[in-house]
Order: sequence, then C-alpha cells, then structure tokens
Amino acid sequence: MSERFHFRLLAMSDLHGHLIPESLTDFTQKPSGLCAISSIIAKHRTENTRVLDLGDSIQGSPMMDYHQAHRHSSPNPVAVLFNHLKVDYFVPGNHDFNYGRSYLDQFIDNLNTTKVLCANILDKKNRPAFGLPYDLFTLGEGIKIAIIGVTTQYIPNWERKSHITNLRFENACQVAKRLVEHLKKIENPHLIILAYHGGFEKDLDTFEAYVADTGENLGSRMLEEIPEIDILITGHQHRSIVSTVRNTLVIQPGYNGKAMAVIDVDFIKENGRYAIRKKAILEKTDNYPVDETCVTLLSNIRKETEKYLDIRIGKTTQDLLIKDAFLARRDKHPIVTFINQVQREKTKADISCCSLGNQVSGFPDIIRIRDVLSTYVFPNTLVVLRIDGQTLKRALEKNAEYFALDEEGRIIANPRYSYPKTEHYNYDMFDGIDYCIDVAQPYGRRIVTLTYQNKPVSTHQSFTLVMNNYRSTGGGEFQMYRNLEIVKEINIDIASLLIDYIKKHKTITIQAHHNIRVINSNQ
Ligand SMILES: [Zn+2]
Repeated sequence: MSERFHFRLLAMSDLHGHLIPESLTDFTQKPSGLCAISSIIAKHRTENTRVLDLGDSIQGSPMMDYHQAHRHSSPNPVAVLFNHLKVDYFVPGNHDFNYGRSYLDQFIDNLNTTKVLCANILDKKNRPAFGLPYDLFTLGEGIKIAIIGVTTQYIPNWERKSHITNLRFENACQVAKRLVEHLKKIENPHLIILAYHGGFEKDLDTFEAYVADTGENLGSRMLEEIPEIDILITGHQHRSIVSTVRNTLVIQPGYNGKAMAVIDVDFIKENGRYAIRKKAILEKTDNYPVDETCVTLLSNIRKETEKYLDIRIGKTTQDLLIKDAFLARRDKHPIVTFINQVQREKTKADISCCSLGNQVSGFPDIIRIRDVLSTYVFPNTLVVLRIDGQTLKRALEKNAEYFALDEEGRIIANPRYSYPKTEHYNYDMFDGIDYCIDVAQPYGRRIVTLTYQNKPVSTHQSFTLVMNNYRSTGGGEFQMYRNLEIVKEINIDIASLLIDYIKKHKTITIQAHHNIRVINSNQ
C-alpha cells in the first residue's frame, strides 16, 4: 500500500484593509473581507495547513485610514485578525509602505506568530529588511516544504522616498532563482512554493507580453526561468487565476478579501519516492458567512471609524454624484475640476492634473467624510513639478491613449486599462490648460490643440504642474515626469486637503470647466 501525506495552503492577497464587509456607501454588500475569509479558513483548515497572506494588506480601507490617522498606537486591526486566525506567513506588498515605514514596522511588531517572508528587500547591511527570505518545514516522515517570499521591486517608482529610506529592492526573479538553486543544493525540498507580491507581464497561454516590461511584474519570467517552482502564488494585479503553466501550479487569489485560494498537495510514496499531485480552487467569500468573532474583535475601531466617517463637513446644491465613471472621465466631471482647484489653490501651480479611482462615488447634498474618502480613494500627497511645453504634450499624449473607438466609431475606454489590471486611475485630467483629444488619430498624435491662457503652448514654455506623488515618480508609465525638477512637495494627504477645503467653504459650488474635448474627427 502506498503512503500518502496531504498538505494544504490557504492563500489570500491584496486585502487592502478590507476586514468587514462594508463599503463606504453600499451597506448591502455580500460577505467579503478578512472576517468572511475567516469562515473559509475555518472550513478548510486541516492538520497540515498553512495560511499565507501575500501583501497589500494594511492600506486601502477607511478603517485602516482611520487607524493610521487617529489610532495608530492601538494594535493594528489587520494584525489583530492575523493573530486570531493564526496566519502563518505575510509577504509585504507595495501598498504596505504607503503609510510610512514606522507604520509597517509596527504592524509587523503586532504580529504574534506570523512569519514575514521577503527575500529581495534589503537593508543597509544587505540583510533582508523584513523577516526571512524563506521558511522551510517538515511534514510527516521528513517531507520538506520550502516557501520563499519576494515583493515587486518596482516600489521606488511609486513610493515616497522617506518611506523607503535605506532600503534596496533587488530583482525579484533573480533573487528567487538564486534561492531556489541554493535550496535545491542544500536542502533539496520535496516542494518549493514561491509567494510573489507581483503579477504577470505576459499572457499565461501564449507568453506574449501584455504589459510593459518594467520589472513591476515578473511572474512570467519566473515561470520561464525557474522551472523548479512547484507552486507560484502571485498577487498585485487583483486577478483571479488558477492554472497550470509548464508544470507549475499558478495562483492569483483576487483582492479585497473576496476570495481565498485553497491549494492541495498530495505526496504519494511509491517505491521509496514521493510523487506529487497538486490542485487548487478559489473559494469566494460571498458563499460564506461573516465570522462574528472577528467582527467583535474589531467592534471598537469599527464604531469609531463609522462615527468619524459620518461627520458632516459641508453641503452642495449641485448634483455632484458620479453615476457613470466613464462619462465622468470623458466629459470631465465637476468633481475633477474641484480636485484640481483645491490642488492649485494649495500649491499655486499653473496647471493641475488628477484622475478618478476605478470606482468613485462623488458628493451627495450633505457631504460627509465618507463621501470624500470614497471619491478620493488613494493615500496620495501633492508634488509640484517644473515642466516644459514639449514634455507636457508628451504627458497629454500618454493620457490620450486612454480612449479607443469601437466598431461603430463610438468613443470608449481603451480595453488596455481594464485588462490585465483595472487601472482607469491612470487617466489624468488637467486644469489650467485647454486641449482637444482626437481619438481617430494614432497614439502620439492625438492632442490636436493645446493652449494656455488662450495661446498655443510652445515647446520651451515653462510651467509648474501639480499632481499626486504616485504620478510624479512616473507611476502608470508616465516616464516623462521621472526626472523633472521638483518645485514643491506638500506632505498632507489629498483627501485631508479636500476635507479641509469643504469644511472651510461649507457650501461647495463648482464652476464646470469644459477645457478638455474628446472627439472622433471621423464622425
Ligand atoms: Zn501591489
């Protein structure tokens, strides 16, 4: 009779602080978040189970915003639940740096038994800055399992410098390859799991590139160059993937606590050797109840967050709700004008640009803090750059790629902004200039008019341009911004600036400013 050992790994990623299944404005949501993930863990935990979280965990929800701003000395809510659920591993993601290094360090400090795995972020002495490069454990009669953790090395292209001082980000694929070789030689594990907070740069079937090869996502290269990986768990792109590619089981378990991967490995001993069978499914939280014990653990911070979110800060007599996100971008919703207005007032910059998150709510008649946080959803700050006319035009051309034409010649959002990752937030709208985007023209020639104070912008004309810090470092493939002179930085998050502005003015009236025309000249 053959001997059999079973190992199960439960993996989640990109929680973005979603613990309790409530959004800012929609209270009828299906179960999601870590409190619902808890029910999946309870159902699927076996004797030989490990639970892994793949990062982007502590930032991205009102509760975590509130905790960071008002309660950061109390235990981190994500850590409270990780401890309760006995999460075994945490691999940091890029967004885990957004609230600053000390906030991340404190979160890690709050973890009781969770091991942090991150092999490619190094400190000044070239040691892993967070936890261990990998973990190795034994199952049954000497079955060795190795789990390596790596994080997208692209963080310096997005993050504020003060949040990543003295850190070095090494190539995630190279580091993983080196470690796999090392482990093979020294330990020869039966199973190698690579947990990578990053995604795929190529199509998983054809291996054709579908995102720019910047190093942000290296999952495909890992599959090509490190065939020894038995299971590759990825994240960052918020995709739901279960697939087998070149003998490697490939997983991406979604985002915001909407699903968890249940990965099963059977080791079957035959003639003194182990054959390995592996499979996985994604369990969706909307099929599970919310674990009330978890909810109770968060009851204080939840009450405080709700109270804070409900604070009335002003009102408007205009209809400022965003009902159609595409139209809000195509026709430049007054909210965009409003954000640009606040950014320009604060910085006195000549020009301002901003984008809208993938899903945003806009403002109802009575404006509460929750309405601002669900309209400006990123923890960004402001940066003013010096830019010349030519570079400004290049940036506008990049933004103009956001639009495409369908078969009937209608202007639509370029599908590239929906797949492989939804990133409508990479379309910026400007105030302070007037311009026209002709979607009928090829990329690079779509800006058909561009004026500043009613005069055409010339190549060497100099401007100050305010934008968020993510964009100013080139985030969203805006390389043209990367080496520009920084005139000014305002280290207050933009949502707070908007809240302060509304509090001060009490009633918000926005003059519509139709300075961006989006046309199809063939119609
Ligand atoms: Zn990420």
